[in-house]
Amino acid sequence: AKKKGKNNYQFFTESLSKEATRRSLLENALSKAISNNEFHLHYQPQIDLSTGELVGVEALLRWNSPYGFVSPIEFIPIAEETNLILPIGEWVMKEACRQINRWKKLGLPNLVVSVNVSARQFHDETFPQKVKEILESEHVDGHLFEIEITETVMLNIEAATKKIEDIRKLGVKIAIDDFGAGYSSLNVINSIDIDTLKIDKLLIDHMMENKRSMSILLTIINVGKDINAKVIIEGVETKEQVQLLKSLNVIAQGYYFSRPLPNEELQSIWLTNWRK
Ligand code: C2E
Ligand code: CA
Ligand code: CA
Ligand code: CA
Repeated sequence: AKKKGKNNYQFFTESLSKEATRRSLLENALSKAISNNEFHLHYQPQIDLSTGELVGVEALLRWNSPYGFVSPIEFIPIAEETNLILPIGEWVMKEACRQINRWKKLGLPNLVVSVNVSARQFHDETFPQKVKEILESEHVDGHLFEIEITETVMLNIEAATKKIEDIRKLGVKIAIDDFGAGYSSLNVINSIDIDTLKIDKLLIDHMMENKRSMSILLTIINVGKDINAKVIIEGVETKEQVQLLKSLNVIAQGYYFSRPLPNEELQSIWLTNWRK
């Protein structure tokens, strides 16, 4: 038994140090990812369920690292802890703008692109100015651009309100991401003007299981409508979910319609022959 205990201990320290090694390898690689052109964006369609029309896309960051594909679920937290999220976040916004211009050049209809912004990025003093500079230097109309922030960003409601006002003055839209997943304070969306409420996948998943979740979801959808926000249901995967949501006048995003796609596929599947 003693021997087994010792082996367990060794196994534990080994796996811990393996983790630490991976983490420092990734951290190092992440600091070079922009200059090595290892990032690109995928785009996930958002569909208005009452018309069936494509109304926008969410840009999601992809990293082709020297160690292979690494999920944003793993590398975004590392980027946040190391502050690399600042240059990376800027790259994401610029690339989204460049993509908007590429579609424009091809004569494709205008599409609103929303990008994810980390709390660390949003809290940076210069963030609204950065957004302004990027839109100006890339010559992009702010109305085609949306920023997704989570509720935790609004914990400091005064600082957040001022920033959000400055950003909305540029025409840029504000979406609250993962709504209903964490602590949800209706107070937050009551006091700040937002354009879009993105309802977390958890709620749609539970909706199928019980009536009570269904009524919570309906309530949140109505709150969104009361504050004149677009409501997007995230993580829609099944036909049954679509049928339940159809009469509710919401926008859906999820694997049922499409996974996040590289631009070439988005264009060939969704943007060619597409009329508004
Ligand atoms: P998120 O912003 O909540 O993005 C939605 C995630 O759900 C994406 O994962 C998307 O691929 C996935 N998804 C979409 N539809 C479905 C579905 O029907 N079923 C399931 N199971 N999943 C679905 P992804 O691309 O792996 O991104 C994970 C998270 O990483 C994002 O969650 C976001 O928090 C973060 N992230 C991604 N790109 C960026 C970025 O450019 N900047 C920052 N700060 N964070 C990002
Ligand atoms: Ca998001
Ligand atoms: Ca989300
Ligand atoms: Ca999320």
